Amino acid sequence: MKNDLVVVCGGGGFIGGHLVADLRRQGFTRIRAVDRKPQTGWYQRFPDVENLVLDLDLKGNCYSAVQGAYTVYNLAADMGGMGFIENNKALCMLSVLINTHLLQAVKDLGIQRYFYASSACVYNGDKQRDTNVTALKEEDAYPALPEDGYGWEKLFSERMCRHFREDYGIWTRVARYHNVYGPFGTYDGGREKAPAATCRKVIAAKLAGTNDIEIWGDGHQTRSFMYIDDCLKGTQMLTHSDFVEPINIGSSELVSINQLVDMVEDIAGIKLKRSYNLKAPKGVNGRNSDNTLIQKVFGWEPSTRLRDGMEQTYRWIHDQMIARKEGKAVQSFH
Ligand code: NAD
Repeated sequence: MKNDLVVVCGGGGFIGGHLVADLRRQGFTRIRAVDRKPQTGWYQRFPDVENLVLDLDLKGNCYSAVQGAYTVYNLAADMGGMGFIENNKALCMLSVLINTHLLQAVKDLGIQRYFYASSACVYNGDKQRDTNVTALKEEDAYPALPEDGYGWEKLFSERMCRHFREDYGIWTRVARYHNVYGPFGTYDGGREKAPAATCRKVIAAKLAGTNDIEIWGDGHQTRSFMYIDDCLKGTQMLTHSDFVEPINIGSSELVSINQLVDMVEDIAGIKLKRSYNLKAPKGVNGRNSDNTLIQKVFGWEPSTRLRDGMEQTYRWIHDQMIARKEGKAVQSFH
């Protein structure tokens, strides 16, 4: 029902901010966004939404956050691109507190629906050694050998959702997101991921008139990237479906990092001299989403063309960087 209270944990972040915006567009009238960051740092913020600053590591705050809700989306986590997760494993694992305390609150307060954002980082590393990848199917998470730190936390929290469903009858739904990108997200500061980082580097080179770009790894590593609109659609479908197992929500359009850079150069209308930093964190050699299951369950899969999504993302980051250069306040609030 459109007047049921919906809580978006991590509502000040990239995906959470978009989810709040999307729920408003759909006509939900009672939305609560919760994040640890001060509200000035939220990517999207709306005056008709109840915006709460709470640290969800703390159990008591989780009860306050979800009180009265019908649906709770857990998009709160300490996360970032490879540069962040390879160097902050303990911090990433501490996000287990958020999911654990939220699940306890949801159970004790009788809340109907709970969505958890897991990640392709749960998949067994042995299946991702080759740039010429075999796309990852849901069963490839076991036997377990996930990304150290961040991936272990995600896999453990997935299982926590499973057991709260099995033992207490809580409606938990788990998505394994594959690299999400789009406007209103992190593009600098160390937590940014490859699509935003590539846009920022290309724009910076263009604005400064230099001709260089540094690429992490040898550029041959392959990935798929999902545009935010597809992420939102898949998230909503899953949350309200009867499907109970973790499921991939990701694009299956595979590109190498070099091809991603080609694309952004083309959008920018420049060609840069590439240097490859082989010591930088680069993650697994290849990763793609096998979408057989999501097609079977929903008759749908993320399909926004990378080029289309990257044009939107590039334009937003470009405007942000120009605004900063001109000393203007960066406006990401509505
Ligand atoms: P994000 O960093 O933009 O948003 C996460 C938000 O959670 C941040 O605003 C952060 O302040 C908040 N947060 C962190 N710890 C908190 C705490 N203790 N209490 C309250 N708020 C806290 O990241 P995102 O890209 O929007 O990711 C959302 C979710 O999706 C995360 O769980 C992430 O692991 C998952 N995910 C994202 C991607 C991706 O490519 N973006 C891929 C796979 C999974």
